[in-house]
Amino acid sequence: MSKMERIEPLLTAAQIRNRVTELAAQITKDYQDKEILLLGTLKGAYVFIADLSREIDRPMEIDFLKVSSYGDSTSPISQVAFDQRPSTELSDKHVLLVEDIVDTGHTLAYLRRFLESQNPASLKVCALLDKPSRREAKLPESEYIGFQIPDKFVVGYGLDYGQRYRNMPYVGELIFEEVNKW
Ligand code: 5GP
Repeated sequence: MSKMERIEPLLTAAQIRNRVTELAAQITKDYQDKEILLLGTLKGAYVFIADLSREIDRPMEIDFLKVSSYGDSTSPISQVAFDQRPSTELSDKHVLLVEDIVDTGHTLAYLRRFLESQNPASLKVCALLDKPSRREAKLPESEYIGFQIPDKFVVGYGLDYGQRYRNMPYVGELIFEEVNKW
């Protein structure tokens, strides 16, 4: 027996594009008289922030941060630490954190605590995907959510499995199948 990986499509490229346009329109409206600091989480949010930032009609700075959660990649656990902090001063900025996916919520809880401690003028969160059924951390609801999805391990549109699949233009469930090898 060996294992094969298969992708079951969940969100099409067109669905994602339409939702990104809607989110960007809402963000443009909400930040009417403000300049934004868009802060993306590496690596997973790189595609989302590239598309979202180009549709938001406000002046903005863009920066990135990187955290790791320790555990295997299909079940993140609660140990979170910085690999790369933002390179921009955050105090008095309108920080909009751009996340790929909120799963247990431990990563986001850690990031919210860190970002609040930097005294931003405001802090909001925009997550492309949300798996509410997996939540463990106590968290305020994210201000902008692309899609709520069921408890499935997904890849594509920036999301990986073992660093692969990030360049898929759509989001799909990664399924492992046992196959007989003769
Ligand atoms: P949390 O701390 O909310 O449990 O997990 C957040 C991180 O776990 C995400 O930023 C992402 O890196 C990873 N993660 C959680 N669910 C998935 C998933 O379905 N697919 C992929 N590729 N990564 C996920």
